[in-house]
Amino acid sequence: MHLIRSAVLKMTLYYLLIIMALSIGFSLFLYHVSSIELNRELRRPSFITQTEIGTLFNYDRFRDTRLEESHHHLLDNLIAFNIATLFIGGALSYALALRTLHPIEDALEAQSRFTADASHELRTPLTAMQTEIEVALRNPKLNAEAARQLLASNLEEVGKLKALSDSLLHLAQQNGQSDSYRTISLKEVAAQAAEYHGKQAQAKDITIENRVPAMTVQGDKETLVQAVAILLDNAVKYSGPKTTVVLSGKRLNHQVELSVKDHGSGIKASDLPHIFDRFYRADRSRNKETVDGYGLGLSIAKKIVELHHGSITVKSTLEQGSTFTIKLPLETA
Ligand code: ADP
Repeated sequence: MHLIRSAVLKMTLYYLLIIMALSIGFSLFLYHVSSIELNRELRRPSFITQTEIGTLFNYDRFRDTRLEESHHHLLDNLIAFNIATLFIGGALSYALALRTLHPIEDALEAQSRFTADASHELRTPLTAMQTEIEVALRNPKLNAEAARQLLASNLEEVGKLKALSDSLLHLAQQNGQSDSYRTISLKEVAAQAAEYHGKQAQAKDITIENRVPAMTVQGDKETLVQAVAILLDNAVKYSGPKTTVVLSGKRLNHQVELSVKDHGSGIKASDLPHIFDRFYRADRSRNKETVDGYGLGLSIAKKIVELHHGSITVKSTLEQGSTFTIKLPLETA
């Protein structure tokens, strides 16, 4: 990305400027202090007069030459040190800038992918509505009945758009405010989620069994209910009539487990690694036309569970059913 590349270069430059300012400052200080030291060391002791040693050599001339040599030597060393600092510091600054900006680059990329996916999904119902309306308007003999049918179809598309925008909003709102976390009963969470989908299950003659025992976790009740409700919604959506969906729970060493087991269509092994991705819908030819959805439910559930420091996994066999398991850390007293 061009934006990130120029930010990396800018950051490298800033880091390098700081390093070089320190290095040059330090060198100047060292040069100054060393000069004073050299001057002091090579000063002729006051008890020896130049005439006394003058017979051997001219001490003052010797001193000046030594001083000049030492200064040159010191200056050469310091310049070499600063050139080395410039190159090594430049490489280090670049590596550091890359490391600092890498997560930002990832986040930006994920965001633009998300926006592209969301726009694509929004386009589908909008295009369907646009086409229907255009065809209807071109028909000079449009009667009340046809207009009513058009409105009903448009209403359906509007419903889909609303569901999609609600899902997107939920996804954006999950930003992990752990200050709203309280001790909550998982049994109640399961019961509330089951209540949400009672009618939907009844319509398909599906029984929802809540076997979650009394267990507590630290968390936000509303969002956890939402996560379990998403799993239940899928369990009911992807199960045939007259089947059973079981909600169960158990306590492990440091975690509690809540599972949603259905006897529905199951998920293909090749789809399993992707079903928690945004906008992913397994086996399009089989599901997309028959079951409504945007492939956002599981990514919302995953995000909620992760914000509770938990994990979500799935086991599934095609045509036999799926079990989604949420693991949450056990509440510490
Ligand atoms: P949506 O259900 O809206 O398509 P999700 O993110 O909730 O989106 O699910 C992603 C995909 O995972 C679904 O399209 C479906 O193919 C598959 N899936 C999820 N839950 C189940 C389930 N209980 N049984 C079978 N397939 C499931």
